[in-house]
Order: sequence, then structure tokens, then C-alpha cells
Amino acid sequence: MEQTVGIASAGGKISVALVEGDRLISPVDVYSESGDYSERDDLFSMPMESVVAMVAEMVRTLRREHQVEPAAAGMCFPGIIRNGIVEESPNLKQAKGANLCRMLTEALASRGLTTRVSVCNDADAAATGIAAQRGQMENLIRVWTLGQGVGFGRYPHYPGPCEVGHTVVTLDPKETYCGCGGRGHLEGIVGHRAMRLRFLDLEPEEIFANARQGDARCAEFELLWHRALAAGTAGSVHLDGPGKFFIAGPSARFVQVNLLNQYLQEMVAMSPLQGSVFEVVPGLEELAIVGAAVNAAAVQH
Ligand SMILES: [Zn+2]
Repeated sequence: MEQTVGIASAGGKISVALVEGDRLISPVDVYSESGDYSERDDLFSMPMESVVAMVAEMVRTLRREHQVEPAAAGMCFPGIIRNGIVEESPNLKQAKGANLCRMLTEALASRGLTTRVSVCNDADAAATGIAAQRGQMENLIRVWTLGQGVGFGRYPHYPGPCEVGHTVVTLDPKETYCGCGGRGHLEGIVGHRAMRLRFLDLEPEEIFANARQGDARCAEFELLWHRALAAGTAGSVHLDGPGKFFIAGPSARFVQVNLLNQYLQEMVAMSPLQGSVFEVVPGLEELAIVGAAVNAAAVQH
């Protein structure tokens, strides 16, 4: 079976591994400027040329250590990715306009690797990873990735931008915390960056911990946070029908599935559209690596 390189930039790190079929066959090599989730701006303030050079070096090391000639390299990246170009990436502004596919192809070629490269959205890669690992390549897979921003991945991929994280979930003009600058966005409530902007005095984990201890301001926000995620999900249900919604990423640990279910039921009233379920899945990094690699392998054939 062919071996493919999967490269993920989910969770604020660059992670690279070898993939065969739907499984990792090497340890994950991780680059992270800082292990602290809130301090990782260092990595993402790097110019894209440096990010790509680092990725190419990691792939070269992987190839040398494992003595393989990968059939393809697949990279996933946050934002609107079309034809290998990062058209927009609200939380990684330096990436806007970068032809990531061409840059990585050239960086690998200059290191003696003529591997074919493909690039896709990071949440879409997570959806592909779930579809592949669960043997559900025939089904519709939808996944929320909750991190610095809010991603919504879909497998099979939707041809449009699919920026469901930027769905408008409130008409309150004071809701301006989304990294893209749009008002009332889901990510402006649920995203890690947005939570830190809203609560300048508290980290997200403190907000949810305080909510559990009865702090009124935090408890109110916890409900708003779940309502916003339910509203985004309801939008997808009304567009694409009911089904299972996976939730992954660092902030998935804040999810109370029963609360989400309750709010979604309030928001979706038509009987043919009821019956959706949520499942929190661990291991976003592995899912994204596998998904990026599976996408790359599919492009090649
Ligand atoms: Zn937005």
C-alpha cells in the first residue's frame, strides 16, 4: 500500500507523520514554538516562507528516518483554501493569498523530493480522517473543530467556502469578537481567541470552571456558548439535513452534550429534520493528519 505524508496545522502546531491507508505508520513529529496554548502566537506570526521551509524540513527528516518515498504529501490549513491557495485565514492573516501548494512543492523539490502536494482546509481534513478511520467514506460526515477559531469540516467536501464557523448566530451589534471582523459570528462567541477578548480577566478554562461554581457572568456565557454552537448546527441541519455532528479540538472539552442537544431540539422543530446527535471525538491532530494524507492520495489517482 502507498505511503503518504500527512501534515496538519491544527491546534496551533505543525504536525507531520507518515500515513498508510487510514492509519499513522510513524510517530507524529511536532513543531511548536511553545507548549502553552495561549502563547502560540509566536508560531503563527512566522512568515509563510518560514512555515513552509520548516514543514519541508520535517518531511525530509521523516523520509530519511523511515527510508520511504512518499507517493504524495497532503497538508491541511485553516481558512478558505481553493486550488492550493489560502484565499483567507482570519486567525493566520499572514497566510492570505499564499499559494501554499506551490510553495510547498518548490520547498520539497529544492530538498530533492518531487512528491506531489495537495492542500485542503483543516476542518475538512478532520472530517475526511473521521470518514476514513470509521470506514464511512460513503456517508456525510460533519465535524466542528473548536480551537483558536471555529472550523466546520464536511466530507464529502463541499465545493463552496463552507465557512460555517462564521455563521451569524446573533443580531446583537455588540458581538464583534470574531477574528474575521464580521459581527454576530459563531466563532466570535465559541472561538478561543474570542473568549479571551470577551473575558480579558479570565482564560477560557477559568470561565467554564467558574460557571460550574455558580459565577453568574460565567454561567450565563456558558449557556450562550452552547446556544451559539447549537445555532450553527441548526443552520447545517436546515441546509443539509439531520445526522451526526462530531466535535473535536482543544475547546471540545467544554462541551456539555446534553445542553447542546436540548438547544438544538429547541431550534429544529420540523419532524423530518429531527434526530441529530453530537459526539465529542479526541485526537484532532491525528484525524487531520490522516485526512490530509487521504485527500492527497485521492487527488493523485
Ligand atoms: Zn467571522
